[in-house]
Amino acid sequence: LTGEPPEPLRRIKGDNYAPDNPKSDRVNATILSLVRNEELVQLLQSMRDLERTWNSKFNYPWTFINDVPFTEEFKKKTRAATKAEIRYEVVPEEHWGVPSWINRDLYAESIEVLKEQEVQYMGKTSYHQMCRWNSGLFYKHPALVNTRYYWRVEPNVHFFCDIDYDVFAYMQDHNKTYGFTINLYDSPQSVAGLWPATEEFIASHKDYLHPNNAMKWLTDPGKRAENKQLANGYSTCHFWSNFEIGDMDFWRGRVYEDYFNHLDRAGGFFYERWGDAPVHSIALGLFEDKKKIHWFRDIGYQHIPFFNCPNSPKCKGCEAGKFTDGENWLHREDCRPNWFKFVGMG
Ligand code: GDP
Ligand code: MN
Repeated sequence: LTGEPPEPLRRIKGDNYAPDNPKSDRVNATILSLVRNEELVQLLQSMRDLERTWNSKFNYPWTFINDVPFTEEFKKKTRAATKAEIRYEVVPEEHWGVPSWINRDLYAESIEVLKEQEVQYMGKTSYHQMCRWNSGLFYKHPALVNTRYYWRVEPNVHFFCDIDYDVFAYMQDHNKTYGFTINLYDSPQSVAGLWPATEEFIASHKDYLHPNNAMKWLTDPGKRAENKQLANGYSTCHFWSNFEIGDMDFWRGRVYEDYFNHLDRAGGFFYERWGDAPVHSIALGLFEDKKKIHWFRDIGYQHIPFFNCPNSPKCKGCEAGKFTDGENWLHREDCRPNWFKFVGMG
């Protein structure tokens, strides 16, 4: 009824999750947020929800990362929102700058072409930088190199359901690599060259494909044949990465490192607008065992305009089964049926 994953699950016993317990049951993990100073109010909303439903019980540290230093106000107000430890970090210059091999003229031209095709954020360089960083660089931040699991949280998201077990320990104890809540189709124009670049990579690294991969989920057109056509063979189905709970060891492994470098050199983070969501999703779908990817059906979640809303007495403030509160056509964006069809409910 609550949708909790199977036992074993680690729960609260006495002070085993107290914030200052040096022998706590916490595993090696952090809540992680790339965020701007201007998003403080929205971030506090996300913190309030996640602390209320989960983290005030388990007290995992928060790591905030920014491309510029955090303000004193940001630090003061976030510190007041949790009992857990907080780290404030800046992205190293070499992880944020536009790489030297990107051709500025070609980038400028591409912006014009893709803006015409109404690719959202195409003209915003910081958005391209953010997508590249979230794809292949965040886990290389010096403050994270000794941390294994992360839960990515964005400003202005909502969590609706009480979660009474240690989510990170679940990942570790059940040998999961990645957890998601929402599965969507993407804007195909933003990733037109991503699948061709991926096929090129696979052709020279056939041994990287996992025998129990989710290739069908990545390539079956589902209800959106036009997407697959415009994205040159990729269904555009992806895990919506504003929520992700993951094992950074997968991103740090040889296979993903080679894949990311291949994509990075191809330039599509700038000449197109490859998102970290499709990049992570394709890598997981091809190079990881699909059994290691978990749908957190029990974590009620919203990032405008989509929801994951379980039917459970532990949830408040979201309507069971609701997918979107936006315009009607947005219902077509749900790709979860494809995931269930090819991979299952978990
Ligand atoms: P959307 O959800 O795709 O509309 O994109 P968001 O604006 O929510 O950005 C995704 C995440 O990256 C959020 O956590 C933002 O706070 C963060 N982000 C995006 N651009 C920047 C930036 O230039 N600097 C910093 N520090 N964070 C950014
Ligand atoms: Mn967002």
